[in-house]
Amino acid sequence: MDLTLNESEAAFRDEVRSWLEANHPGPEPHGDEAAFAFRREWQRKMHEAGWAGISWPKEYGGRGATLIEQAIFSSEMARADVPSPANILGLVMGGPVIMAHGTEEQKERWLEPILSAEEIWCQGFSEPESGSDLASLKTKAVKVDGGWKATGQKVWTTFAHESKWCMLVARTDTEVAKHKGLTYFICDMEQEGVEIRPLVQITGESEFNEVFFQEAFIPDENLVGGEGNGWMVAITTLMNERAGLGGGAAVAVSRDLAALIEVVKERGLDQDPQIRAKIADLLIGCEALRLGGMRAMTAQMKTGIPGPEGSIGKWEWATLNQSLTELACDVLGPEGLERGTPWTYRMLRSRANSIEGGTTEVMKNIIAERVLQLPRLR
Ligand SMILES: Cc1cc2nc3c(=O)[nH]c(=O)nc-3n(C[C@H](O)[C@H](O)[C@H](O)COP(=O)(O)OP(=O)(O)OC[C@H]3O[C@@H](n4cnc5c(N)ncnc54)[C@H](O)[C@@H]3O)c2cc1C
Repeated sequence: MDLTLNESEAAFRDEVRSWLEANHPGPEPHGDEAAFAFRREWQRKMHEAGWAGISWPKEYGGRGATLIEQAIFSSEMARADVPSPANILGLVMGGPVIMAHGTEEQKERWLEPILSAEEIWCQGFSEPESGSDLASLKTKAVKVDGGWKATGQKVWTTFAHESKWCMLVARTDTEVAKHKGLTYFICDMEQEGVEIRPLVQITGESEFNEVFFQEAFIPDENLVGGEGNGWMVAITTLMNERAGLGGGAAVAVSRDLAALIEVVKERGLDQDPQIRAKIADLLIGCEALRLGGMRAMTAQMKTGIPGPEGSIGKWEWATLNQSLTELACDVLGPEGLERGTPWTYRMLRSRANSIEGGTTEVMKNIIAERVLQLPRLR
């Protein structure tokens, strides 16, 4: 792959960079509600300027950006250290799923409010006994007049408490093989049959929730991709999720490493051989992540679909981010144990990196089977 930007790509980078410089929203406020409202406002501003959903086709309100432009955009967002938009799950997963599998009416109804953050989306996949083995999920949906009634429990549902819509995968047929009995619904969260209970994370925030569905009603027109095709639609969602996690990751980790190197120098630890060796390892990791990301992008440009390279990047990023933030807390000493300081927050939040979006063990299985062609375990 050619690693230099051509004239129009360089012009695109400059345009993004100067817009972000002129419109940086400033530091995010503390507190779950205030932070979410801030990100929602930030997304509105991005949307007004045409920067929300840049990978979406123009006919659906996006910018129709190429893969290289998307990578430039994510890198510039990370470089400028701006917050992610509030409706990240709608932008990265909900919208692309509706564009790929939805009807014209569904596109008309849902896409624009995703872009503007008017309606927030969440992902109702994981259950208490079904995370990595998603196809074993038990939430069921039963056919009733004009629609379906869903009953069951989801867990770790990010932003469910802020959401209007949930991408809900439910079992509609118990007589067939587990992958075949699933259907994909868009469920209205603002109804009596849905109860949301926040879960407190190690950081003290409540980013995600338990969600209980008790005969929640879903009209027929909110079924996506056809009855019994839920597994196929869910896979589209997960592929978009992993592709979304990768964007800008290398730049964000390199940015944080540069900040850590400054802290190391301020504390007079830059001659410590152990710290120097750890920083060298992290620098090598950042470069490997950056180049691996480019290799994944090249493969995707050739095949049109994200390949297993995304799993390598997801694994590398999680490991790097955890090592970097642990080193930062070591460098800070007792200060690194204080709750509420930025590095402690990052260290605690990074613990989830090897779980969210597919665990590191599951990524290793994918690499073993699809990259190294090792035999399947089961
Ligand atoms: C911050 C955060 C946000 C999240 N947001 C959402 C969300 O919005 N919506 C949603 O649906 N889910 C969400 N999740 C859930 C996430 O997708 C699951 O936690 C993840 O898929 C793992 O599932 P699990 O927790 O049930 O663990 P399990 O699948 O029970 O895994 C337990 C352990 O066993 C290992 N393991 C499991 N299977 C295998 C295997 N075949 N081979 C080797 N090891 C294996 C795992 O790696 C893990 O270490 C979120 C999670 C986090 C941490």
